[in-house]
Amino acid sequence: MRMILIGPPGAGKGTQAARLVDQLRIPHISSGDMLRAAVKEGTALGVEADGYMKAGKLVPDEVVIGMILERIARPDAAGGFMLDGFPRTIPQAEALSAAMTRAGYTLDRVVLIEVPDELIVERGVGRRNDPVTGRIYHLTFDPPPPEVAARLVHRKDDTEEAIQQRLVKYHGETAPIVPLYEAQGVLRRVDGVGTPDEVTARLTAALAS
Ligand code: AMP
Repeated sequence: MRMILIGPPGAGKGTQAARLVDQLRIPHISSGDMLRAAVKEGTALGVEADGYMKAGKLVPDEVVIGMILERIARPDAAGGFMLDGFPRTIPQAEALSAAMTRAGYTLDRVVLIEVPDELIVERGVGRRNDPVTGRIYHLTFDPPPPEVAARLVHRKDDTEEAIQQRLVKYHGETAPIVPLYEAQGVLRRVDGVGTPDEVTARLTAALAS
């Protein structure tokens, strides 16, 4: 299975990807996670990406495209992969498509997780990430157990201002890639409002359809 998860910030892509890859046994390739790791390690790529990310802007296409194409060419992705957060622009979608054609790969599914803008800010400001397990919580909707609470981190781009900026980028730059996948017949739309379990059930059904 070679697939892409698309959705606005806070749609639940990271949470759902982590659940699905366990069932599907394919690597979860999150451009945001890779960029955050690069920032943390202080690599040249991380230094370049940091300012864009904090402001809720998109990291330049050439940086992200190189990083992801190199990642999907690794042996563990030969049998399939789940992309989360990439592609986010038309040039990224085109670069991915060209690389997959060159590799003889076909894209099986693109799942769009839909969540109304009104819910996005509330989800983002309450989101907390566990750096040890990678698990994502929400202070109100999915509260963390007390024993992990002290180590949780709040992403720098989960402030109200950065989330609004990310929403603008989503509608302006990412949403236009949806029709490309719709035209290829691989797109499935999933309602992202509900409990994580409800959304996982909808995603599993969408992947089978
Ligand atoms: P995410 O974890 O997917 O919400 O990504 C966090 C941030 O990383 C985004 O707001 C962007 O600044 C950057 N980023 C992640 N993926 C991409 C991408 N495909 N293209 C450009 N910037 C990206």
